[in-house]
Amino acid sequence: MSTPLFARPLPQPTAETAAYWAAAQQQRLVIQRCSSCGHCQFYPRAFCIGCLSDSIEWVNASGHGRIYTYTVCRIAPSPAFESRLPYVVALIDLDEGVRLVANILDVDLESVAIGARVSVCFESVSESCTLPQFTLLD
Ligand SMILES: [Zn+2]
Repeated sequence: MSTPLFARPLPQPTAETAAYWAAAQQQRLVIQRCSSCGHCQFYPRAFCIGCLSDSIEWVNASGHGRIYTYTVCRIAPSPAFESRLPYVVALIDLDEGVRLVANILDVDLESVAIGARVSVCFESVSESCTLPQFTLLD
């Protein structure tokens, strides 16, 4: 298999994010929860931003949330994204209280709205990389 001329940039797991990407590969959305104070956080870190404890555990997220805000990309930031145009980039507030960035997939652009309910889905982009993404709930 050859590498596309303009390959889409993919996440590069780090010590803090490896568990997140491994879970995504298994089609699970996980977030960190502090074992000391119960604070949930995203993006992944080595310590709790609520109490600075390093006693962090990974928990399954519900996969449900709301669109906090979004934009429709109609101009590709690089040639690797031209085939995806137009596409939606959204900030998603999960029901667990954390915010993350994702695309809203398989969507009528007129249906996307701030406050709309969304559900996680998983986009396999390579043999070793799966991205948590979202779709609109009816
Ligand atoms: Zn904490």
